[in-house]
Amino acid sequence: MNTQTVSPREQRQKDRFISKASQTAAKYLRRMEELSGAPESMVPFFRVLRDIYVDGKDVSREDGVKTVGTYCVMAPHELIYAAGAIPVKLCSGSYTAFSIGDDLAPRDACPLVKAVAGFQQIGVMPLYDNCALMVLPITCDCKKKLAGYLAERCEVCTLQIPVSKEDEDIEQYVRELYQFLGVLEETTGNRVTYDSLADAMKKTGYAQFELSRFLRLKKSLPYLLRGTHIMAMMNAASYMPADEWGRQLHLVNRELEQRISRNETVTRRQLPRILLTGSPIIFPNIKIPLLIEEMCGILAADETCMGERGMSDPVVPVDQSFDGLMRSLAIRATRPCSCPTFADNRQRIFRLKQMIRDYQIEGVIYHVLRGCLVYDFEYRQIEEALGELGIPVIRLESDYNEEDVEQLRIRIEAFIELIKLKKPPEVRRTERDYYG
Ligand code: SF4
Ligand code: SF4
Repeated sequence: MNTQTVSPREQRQKDRFISKASQTAAKYLRRMEELSGAPESMVPFFRVLRDIYVDGKDVSREDGVKTVGTYCVMAPHELIYAAGAIPVKLCSGSYTAFSIGDDLAPRDACPLVKAVAGFQQIGVMPLYDNCALMVLPITCDCKKKLAGYLAERCEVCTLQIPVSKEDEDIEQYVRELYQFLGVLEETTGNRVTYDSLADAMKKTGYAQFELSRFLRLKKSLPYLLRGTHIMAMMNAASYMPADEWGRQLHLVNRELEQRISRNETVTRRQLPRILLTGSPIIFPNIKIPLLIEEMCGILAADETCMGERGMSDPVVPVDQSFDGLMRSLAIRATRPCSCPTFADNRQRIFRLKQMIRDYQIEGVIYHVLRGCLVYDFEYRQIEEALGELGIPVIRLESDYNEEDVEQLRIRIEAFIELIKLKKPPEVRRTERDYYG
């Protein structure tokens, strides 16, 4: 916690910040809760988001257990658990923190990075202030500069992400993970052993297993639940230990099985089924998912890092030595990841086509956070590939404020109308159409 003495003026600024940030988070949380169809077992996920963003609490943990902040899904949480600490994802969607960070970073830096810088500057969020260490995979220029900014204020460890996924690149990432392991041991004072790493993998493996059940249930019945609610669950995973999150998801799965047996869905209308992809959607910046569902579309799936992509692939150790476990972590973190930070990312197109087929998607919204070049760069390629399938796609650029909400609403509404007007294809799409 920040214990520096502050002037009355600074204190007033902090108080204003806390009040504004908390009001914004409460508003978006309320809108998510008010959307029809949330399973009752979702309450603990909403509660976690409320604790962190509305009430400004830190993650709950036992005395003496440290937290390690992460800024990308490619930083393996298993290593942090194995060192006896708790990982928390610190990528932020706060409009209030963004407004502070906007004065600290260049105009064209992405809002996610500005919001993180804003939180660090104002020093009122226990989640950020109490971290013993922050780990930043260097995936783009914004993250690189953010690492430099944070290093002046707290303990930082960077991970160099390879640009491709060849064997030698994976070898390089294994070395990065060993270096990260050393920093973690020094920070926590705990040695990572084969057993502690294997236990950590079991903990995250359980959460991944429940997530795989959840995804299977979701595919089995269209309109079973709303994507905005799924995003709330996935965002809450950032602030809950993996096994606890898995246990809560187990209860959601049980409720969904009951819904399926009663053929119960969140709507009886055939609402246009939309897939959301692109730059991360992080609470409370949840305006696009909400607009999709408030404008009578259904967010049927998302291909984003705060959604399914972040956790769905399990770690698969082939070699049961300690080094084998480390390698399996490096492989899981990079090979299945469809982040545009990799030079050749055709895998993302394949993944999107697979999701379009599995979730019977009728339109794709491609989200670009202002200044997020890596995602923007891939838009043309994806628009072309989806055009060949006859799937409409729209690019929506957004920032961390509410000034663009009306414009986003108009464009999303028009897109949903377009999907409704579109006649069903004359010819049913075949596997060959999807995968060439
Ligand atoms: S979008 Fe890329 S850089 Fe951002 S969290 Fe996901 S994998 Fe990491
Ligand atoms: S990948 Fe995009 S959203 Fe993420 S830090 Fe880089 S520029 Fe920002």
